[in-house]
Amino acid sequence: AKSAGGNRYELADPEADARAITRHGLTTALPAALDRGEFFIEYQPLVHLGDDSVRGAEALVRWLHPQHGVLGPDRFIPLAEHTGLIVPLGRWVLEQSVRQARDWQERHGDQAGPFRINVNLSPCQLTHPGLVADTVDILERAGLEPASLCLEVTESALIGADDDLLKPLRRLAEMGVDIALDDFGTGYSNLANLRRLPVSILKLDRSFTQSMQQFPADPVDLKIVEGIVSLAHSLDLKVTVEGVETGAQAEQLKLLGCDTAQGWYYARPGPPDRLHELALVDATG
Ligand code: C2E
Ligand code: CA
Ligand code: CA
Ligand code: CA
Repeated sequence: AKSAGGNRYELADPEADARAITRHGLTTALPAALDRGEFFIEYQPLVHLGDDSVRGAEALVRWLHPQHGVLGPDRFIPLAEHTGLIVPLGRWVLEQSVRQARDWQERHGDQAGPFRINVNLSPCQLTHPGLVADTVDILERAGLEPASLCLEVTESALIGADDDLLKPLRRLAEMGVDIALDDFGTGYSNLANLRRLPVSILKLDRSFTQSMQQFPADPVDLKIVEGIVSLAHSLDLKVTVEGVETGAQAEQLKLLGCDTAQGWYYARPGPPDRLHELALVDATG
């Protein structure tokens, strides 16, 4: 409470205001941050459940902010989407990741098939007219096969998508780029709708993995995952599960027929060299 005639700028909720200032501050700092090279990428292995081998990685962007330290994508991706900076930022992430993937391929050889890189695509990038040309250009300059790239698009971004929105994804898919439906199972999309989408991979949302934490797991959840996996396989789609934190979850998901897994149980996201070591140990047994 404050007395009448007091400071008119006194705030009702200082914490909410601090958040707003930070949000505003972060938003205005974004473009210069890209110029100054404050973003970096961590890679999290994608593990083939058939033999536990590391066959690829997902690229996850971070911001090393000079005052606030390392910020996760949930802090700044929405701001970058709001201002449109996501387009050059996303292009930068794609370029770095594709070059990194090519580098890993050269260092590892490809006994188990070429090493693959997954990159997240925001809905704003999907509607940007340069998407296909930029992607082709980035792949060509790095010398990476389109089949070694997977673009992850969230289920919610594609719900109700019309043909114009799907056209660039379809062209990329025709070139051999994999499209994954990220956070699958959270968007209430019509399963029959899947046939219409140019996707080749379903990434089951972490919430399903979490429900396997209890032992015995909820039988209804098991049935749901089993159903999704068998539907996916009948449509020729691969299933990746994310958020695997325990060996019990990994076993359960393997039994349910999932193809690929990702999560802290295998490795946290980390620098490129860490991934190189994981994949190398793996390749040499
Ligand atoms: P996502 O695509 O669903 O990525 C998976 C998130 O789960 C990552 O969070 C990852 O660090 C986290 N994670 C991995 N394993 C585990 C686990 O075992 N347990 C738990 N609890 N979490 C796990 P992160 O790195 O904070 O990224 C958050 C989201 O930010 C991503 O969710 C993605 O939607 C977005 N994002 C990240 N990088 C980019 C990017 O380059 N572009 C765009 N557009 N979005 C990005
Ligand atoms: Ca993702
Ligand atoms: Ca996800
Ligand atoms: Ca997510």
